[in-house]
Amino acid sequence: MGRTFCFSLKTIGHPIFHGSEEVRPSRSYTAVLDKSADRWKEIQIGPEDVPALSKLEEKYLGLVRSCQSEVYEEELRRLKKGKQLHSTSSLLALAPILSSDGVLRLGGRDERAKLPYDQLHPPLLPGSHPFAEKIIRAFHEHLKHVGTDFLLTYIRQHFWITRGREAVKRVRRNCTICRRNRAKPGEQLMGDLPYSRLDSGSLPFTRTAVDLFGPFEVGLARNRTTKRLGELFTCLVTRSVFLELVPSLSTSDFLLALRKFVSL
Ligand SMILES: [Zn+2]
Repeated sequence: MGRTFCFSLKTIGHPIFHGSEEVRPSRSYTAVLDKSADRWKEIQIGPEDVPALSKLEEKYLGLVRSCQSEVYEEELRRLKKGKQLHSTSSLLALAPILSSDGVLRLGGRDERAKLPYDQLHPPLLPGSHPFAEKIIRAFHEHLKHVGTDFLLTYIRQHFWITRGREAVKRVRRNCTICRRNRAKPGEQLMGDLPYSRLDSGSLPFTRTAVDLFGPFEVGLARNRTTKRLGELFTCLVTRSVFLELVPSLSTSDFLLALRKFVSL
């Protein structure tokens, strides 16, 4: 019943189907599905519900059963009769089991692991269902908007959502806070370079800029240190550099370094 959920709504709305004989039973079916979709819309699950959700309290257990009966009707029917799943079932790889509380849960080979039953066999939920989406959003907000991998791993301790990574990414993509946090900051457009930077025909250091950096601690003699500054001459065209060490920021020290640079 639930597996036809998406395409029934789309195809029945198409004008080609209006008034045809085949569509009559589908229309009533659509009404049922619409009602079901409306019902899920009304259910509110917030981050404050996560502790109760994790413990799978009775209210949420009922919702899980209801969601599963919509989507996994065939699988539930077969497992209740003790039959194997159909070879085309989407849950085949998950080896689902039916627990005593009537919930379809993840199977697996970890039976002997020292973990709680709910973690070993979390309830199965379809990733495309509104209930699963609400659960993911609640966990996402409860965990303060964490990333995809952490969120998925955390949720899997309590629920096994099919196509979970896709569903988690969808929730994060639609989250206003995450979108705002991921937004790229605006960048200032830089102005044109001055002519002095582009005078490529000139000899190196024809156009030179100078700056000082530091101070640095340098060794003078054994156990004696002092502070020195670096003086940097850079060619504006080729970006070559000439470095000189100066003792202070005074004019005389600068002029000495400049004379040394010019005399080269
Ligand atoms: Zn978020």
